[in-house]
This record gives sequence, structure tokens and C-alpha cells, in this order.
Amino acid sequence: MAKTEFKSESKRLLDLMINSIYTHKEIFLREIISNASDAIDKLYYISLTDDNVGIAKDEFKINIEVDKDARIITVSDNGIGMDKDDLDNNLGTIANSGSFKFKQENGKTDDVDIIGQFGVGFYSAFMVADEITVQTKKYGCDQAYQWQSSGADGYEITEIDKDTVGTKIIIKVKEDTDQEKYSEFLEKYKISALVSKYSDYIRYPITMDMEHRKMREGSDLENPEYDMVTENEVLNSMVPIWQRSKKDVTDEEYNDFYKQKFLDFEDPARVFANSVEGVVTYKSLLFVPARVPYNYFTKEYKKGLQLYSSGVLIMENCSDLIPEQFAFVKGVVDSQDLSLNISREMLQHDRQLKTIANTLEKKIKNELLNWLKEDREGYEKFFSQFGKQLKYGLVADYGAHKESVKDLILFYSSTEKKMVTLKEYVERMSDEQEDIYFATGESVDAIDKLPQMEYFREKGIEVLCCGEEIDEFAIKGLNDYGKKTFKNIVNEDVAGEEKDSSADQGDDEVLKFIKETLGERVSEVVFSKKLRSHPVCLTAKGEVSFEMEKYMAAAQPEAHIKAERVLEINAAHPAVTALIANMTADKEKAEKYAKVLYTQAVIIAGLPVEDPSDYADMVCSMMV
Ligand code: ADP
Repeated sequence: MAKTEFKSESKRLLDLMINSIYTHKEIFLREIISNASDAIDKLYYISLTDDNVGIAKDEFKINIEVDKDARIITVSDNGIGMDKDDLDNNLGTIANSGSFKFKQENGKTDDVDIIGQFGVGFYSAFMVADEITVQTKKYGCDQAYQWQSSGADGYEITEIDKDTVGTKIIIKVKEDTDQEKYSEFLEKYKISALVSKYSDYIRYPITMDMEHRKMREGSDLENPEYDMVTENEVLNSMVPIWQRSKKDVTDEEYNDFYKQKFLDFEDPARVFANSVEGVVTYKSLLFVPARVPYNYFTKEYKKGLQLYSSGVLIMENCSDLIPEQFAFVKGVVDSQDLSLNISREMLQHDRQLKTIANTLEKKIKNELLNWLKEDREGYEKFFSQFGKQLKYGLVADYGAHKESVKDLILFYSSTEKKMVTLKEYVERMSDEQEDIYFATGESVDAIDKLPQMEYFREKGIEVLCCGEEIDEFAIKGLNDYGKKTFKNIVNEDVAGEEKDSSADQGDDEVLKFIKETLGERVSEVVFSKKLRSHPVCLTAKGEVSFEMEKYMAAAQPEAHIKAERVLEINAAHPAVTALIANMTADKEKAEKYAKVLYTQAVIIAGLPVEDPSDYADMVCSMMV
């Protein structure tokens, strides 16, 4: 019978497997066992509503056999099994290709790394095997099948006889070479140690025949005699990690669980383990990843938690459990109060689930607040990764989550020169200051150089520098903090309280002249109260700010959303004095000065210059 070739991506992975370094090899057992456990989960789930399954809950198990002489490890389960199509589709192609692709695209770590870190499922068995045989019978099917492969050259599927439903994975372990040793995997103590290390929490018994020395009954205690006996022993404790008390679990165990379950190659930045008893009883084990996942801001990313009901997985990605602002949180929720055979549609309206979601939102918020308090540096690092998501939470769902986010967000402070919370800002405000001042711009650096900042710098007033696109929307969504409203200093209505005494405020002629020269480009020209060393600046009037204009220009260019421009001039500045002097002496020159100053204000505001070459010509003509 002709061999079927593996799909090309799988082939490449197989090569990696076969050539992987030793320390990674041992994870093959974990992968095979976790597949068996998944398969049992599936059949168990069916058995809840289908009497024909005929297997009681405590009869589900995974058994390991080792035949040292034949160099064979067999892992059997009485799970759902596979039919011919399943074998073709599931074992002919690599499953976790998402993480695999990620590594390839990022290309930063060596390929081998993914094996140890992610686990690449079934294929990992080829790290230790010459040949793998899968014998399987699917629940509800009469025919059983065998899938066999010795690696890169493809696989063969044949019909076989098999009485019981379930799957047997038969691993033919490679011979030792000078460089690589495999025989250790044929030692039962090693297999048992690997199960404890990687698969302890698997909820079904993992059994193996173990030989013991047992004292012969009736033998003399002083001079005991022993027999070798074989007993089928359970190797795992079967307690899921989230069911264990926090104090009994090491950081390493949490980290390993996270990486294995959520396919990350880095330890989580934070772990939140909680046990809640009350209206609804549940355990949750949540993780904050160290870094934004590569697909985080794409449609591909699925937020949500794994939902278990008394240890049985009922939903892989329950998005209703996680509010938008905490979409980065990964983890597991297990509750005995959820009905097991609840349908997904019903789940959405489930009151218990809503209660869990609400308490989780509070829990996460409090955990993050604690983090901020206890470990500022760590929190700021987290914020640099997921701050954008938190801010997004201020506007999501029409601001429904404002309360749980407002104390978690940080902004860069112009006076403190570091990230600060709104609470810290408000506490520092002087009695006279009524509003929370912020400035929007391309980046913190660009904001610091804005002419509008001069006044605030001089007075020592703290300004929050908002360099991210989302910032302005977030602040709009927030509306106020502790009864203080926000004022964007780049907008027209914010000014220093005293008027600039050196300016001739009465000279409307000057303003009129400049407005007429600039025409529709500006809606107004005013004497500035906040400029110091700069001659001009642009401020926005009304609802649309410059940052919003820039955002809209990129997001929806056809809408032509423009901020209303107000040109503020500093009458004390020599450049403006020169303009005023020329209004009567040389009108043409004065007009040119007005246009040049306006364009400079446009550039400083980070807006596109309408006619750059015209501007360049004007500046050159002034030089000669
Ligand atoms: P993953 O487990 O990440 O999906 P694997 O390569 O380990 O990737 O397995 C591929 C698929 O093969 C599984 O998703 C499952 O459908 C099927 N499979 C593997 N082992 C078993 C098993 N013991 N019983 C039933 N199906 C299995």
C-alpha cells in the first residue's frame, strides 16, 4: 500500500523533532498523555447525555506499558478514539501551527526551542521513536484503524480488529547512539518520574504495572523475606493545579502549567490564584503574560478563559468571563455550580456565569492594584505591554468598565518625569487648580517641546503627556476623575490665567490682518496667554482635537474630519513684532511673515504642511 506523505509544514517539524537536543525529548510523554486525557474528556462529556457509552466515570483511565526488551512504550486510553478521517486530518498535519509560525516569523530563537517550550503535540514522539503505531477505534464506529509511520517518509493507514473504543499509541524507542541515549525512557522509574513532573494534575488515573519488593506474609519481622510483586499503580495525584492550595504550589509549577497550557515560551508576569465561596463557588487561576502575544491586536486573538465544571472542561475560550479591559488575562475557572451539559447558547445567559464574571472583574482589578502598590517597576513593565488594552477598556461597552480601570492607568507626568496614576496627580494638585491638564501629541518627547507647555513648565503645573492614539479617546471616555474634569492644553480653551502684559491686547488690526492673510486655514487668530519663548502655536477649538484629526485621517480619510484651527500669537516675540512693523511698511512682507509663522505652528503641532515647497520658497526668499 502506498504511503501518504505528510503535509509540507509537518515535514519540516518532523525534521526538527528528529534532530532535537536531548533535554527536550522527555516532553513527548506529556504530549501523548495530554492527548489521551483530551480524548477521554470528549467521551466523558458524551457519556453525560448518552447511556450507550457504558463507561462509568471512574473507569476512564490511561495506562502505560513498557517492554524494555522490545524497546516499546505503549500508552492506551479509553477515550473517544479516531476514525480514518480523524487519523488523516489530525495526525497528517501539525496542530499547533500558530505557535510554530510565530517562531518562524519572528525568527529570533533557534527552531529547537519551540519543542521544549510549546510542545508540539503528537509529533514530539518522533524525538524518541523510530516508528509510531496508533491503533484506534472511535466511539460510535464499527471499524478500527491502525496508523503507522516511521517519520519523514509518510504514514500508512490500515483496517484492524480492536474490540474496545479508544486509542493505543505504540512508540518504538530508538536505539542508543554515541551521541544520544534513549534507553532511559524504557525504565519504569523514569516514566513514573516524568508523569509526576509533567502530568500530575491529569484528572484521570495514569497507571502502570510496577514491581515492588513486598514482605512475605507471615515472615519473621526480625529476619524478613521478600517477594517481588507487580501492581497496577496510579502514578499521578489527579488534582488539577487550580484545585490545590496556593501555598502548596511552587512558582515553577504555576509557570510550567501556564506555558504548557497557553503555549507561551515565557513565564507569566503575574499569577492570580483564587478560591471563592459564596453565591457561586469557584476556583480561578489566572495569568498575566509577560509580553503582548504576537497576534494580540488581530482578529485571530481570542480572549477568554477555560471554563471547567467540577474538573471537566466545558469551554475552551469563554469570552464572557473576561471584560474587554482585561482581555490579556489567560487562565482557568472551575466551578461546581455550573451545569455540565449546559449548551453554549444557554451558557451566555447563565446567571451563575454572570456572577463569576462580575467577581472576576473585581478580583483582577484588585490584584492589579496590589501589583501597582507592591511592585511599581513590575507593574510599569506590565503597563508598557498591556496599558493600551486597559485604556481601551475605558471606552469599551460605552464606558461600563470605567470604574474598574481608572486607577490602573498610568500617564507620563511632565513634572515628575515618570509614569503616574490619576490618583497621584489629583493628590498633588494645588487648591487653585481646577482641572487635570493633559497634552496630546505624537510622543512624550514631542509633547514636551510643544509651545503650549511653556506656561505650565514656568508655573510648575503638572501635565499628563499623552503620546498614544488611544489616550484622548480614553480620557474622553473617562470624562472626569474624582470630580475633576480633564483639559487638553493643546486645545484653545486652556490658557494661563494672567494675560501677557507686554502684549498689546487692544490691537485688533493685527489679528484681523493675519486672519485675512491666512483665510480659511484658520478659524481665528488670537493673542496668546500661554506662549513664552515661541512666537506662535496652533490650538484646536471645539470637539475635534489635532490628535483626533490625525487618527481620523488614517482611519477614515474619506470623512475629512478636521480640527478647527486657532492661531495663537505671542505679541512680545520679535518675529511677531517684525510682522506688525511691516503691516504698514511692507504689506507683502508682512503677509509672507504671517504665512511662515502659521506654517511653523502647523509643523510644531505635528500636522501635515499643506504646501511644503511654497513654505521652503518663502523661507529662502527671506534669507536673500
Ligand atoms: P493537539 O493535541 O495540540 O491538537 P496533536 O498533534 O497532539 O495536537 O494531536 C492532534 C490531534 O490528534 C488531536 O487534536 C486529536 O484530535 C487527535 N488525537 C491525538 N491523540 C489522540 C488520542 N489519544 N485519542 C483521540 N484523538 C487523538
